[in-house]
Amino acid sequence: MVICGLGPAGRALAHRCLVRGMSVIAIDPNPHRRWQATYAAWTDELPAWLDDTTVAAAVARPCAYGRRAHTIPRSYSILDTGRLQHRLDLAGATVLTGRATILDRHTVTVDSGRTVRTDRVVDARGLRRRAGRAEQTAYGLVLDDPGHDEPALFMDWRDDNGADPGSPRSFLYTIPVGGGRVLFEETCLVGAPAIDLGELARRLRCRLRARGIPVRGDEPVERVRFPVVGGTPGAGRLGAAGGYLHPATGYSVGAALAAAGDIAAGHTATSSAARAVYRLRRAGLRALLALPPSELPGFFDAFFELDIGLQCAYLSGHTDLAGTVSAMNRLFAAVPAGTRVRLAAATLHLPALSHAGSGSVIME
Ligand SMILES: Cc1cc2nc3c(=O)[nH]c(=O)nc-3n(C[C@H](O)[C@H](O)[C@H](O)COP(=O)(O)OP(=O)(O)OC[C@H]3O[C@@H](n4cnc5c(N)ncnc54)[C@H](O)[C@@H]3O)c2cc1C
Repeated sequence: MVICGLGPAGRALAHRCLVRGMSVIAIDPNPHRRWQATYAAWTDELPAWLDDTTVAAAVARPCAYGRRAHTIPRSYSILDTGRLQHRLDLAGATVLTGRATILDRHTVTVDSGRTVRTDRVVDARGLRRRAGRAEQTAYGLVLDDPGHDEPALFMDWRDDNGADPGSPRSFLYTIPVGGGRVLFEETCLVGAPAIDLGELARRLRCRLRARGIPVRGDEPVERVRFPVVGGTPGAGRLGAAGGYLHPATGYSVGAALAAAGDIAAGHTATSSAARAVYRLRRAGLRALLALPPSELPGFFDAFFELDIGLQCAYLSGHTDLAGTVSAMNRLFAAVPAGTRVRLAAATLHLPALSHAGSGSVIME
């Protein structure tokens, strides 16, 4: 197998193929780049072969705030990025430094001009930033545990971040990252353009001040910016390139890790289900972006009050069509009537009824 791209998705697949004794050629322009991002996933998404040493911290019941507080009865794991990369060992693979430029099912051409032939090619090249493509942005600080009573916050839409009322909204993400440290991250779920990092940094500092959490000024910073659309589900693609990245949340790592083992074992998910789920998620994203900032907290109250099985179906995996439809239907029924009209209009591409002020639109 030839795997193009050694991010979490491609490296996991390469590793699982090697464990099975398969021959692997992996191609990446920077194959030994050390990953820096803080990756997290719902604990139940992580495959059994990924041992606990790759988990830096786990939160049994993370919290969320819209207008109300919610406890999510689902464990959330924060991965130890260095250990994860090390665990996805590539010993035995042929690793080529280069950029795959032309791919088909059995052949890859690298920018050096070299052509590699194989029984199977997998595209795990991630997504490229492109003008107008919707992105997620975030600005985070890793603080020594402030000893604050604040629980781990999956998503906190409270408005103590000093943002102008009516401006695109961001939320706070607060998770333990191991070693007694906590990541506080102000996050723009998605936008085109997304909120810039300077504004998110300003909002984060404002929030931390409001909550009495001290900042020294020399703490490690996490800067996040990545496209959330542009993948194409299909049998020869994995990870963000293959539509595993949830366009309405930005998550893909759990789904890609889980799928890597299945693909290495020769099981391929049905592409038609994956394509249908991806289209629904794109519609969900359009709907979400059509909401005025003032309606987002109420929307997420309705989401976090859904049965946990429906929340899982909407957030996780990439092929559960029936679960995705059920979750979207139940959410639609649960939101206030005005929000429902806007969601329906955006889902059906009726721009005149959609909110136009946030700059959060999807273009591809
Ligand atoms: C700071 C940060 C935090 C994040 N946190 C989370 C999180 O908690 N949970 C989550 O699920 N997601 C998270 N994400 C999103 C995350 O980046 C993506 O979900 C994930 O990296 C996608 O993995 P991937 O392997 O599909 O693609 P990528 O990580 O983008 O990897 C693609 C690889 O392909 C290589 N490549 C590119 N072009 C070529 C080419 N032409 N030929 C060969 N190789 C090529 C690249 O060098 C790269 O190594 C985060 C992102 C950032 C930036």
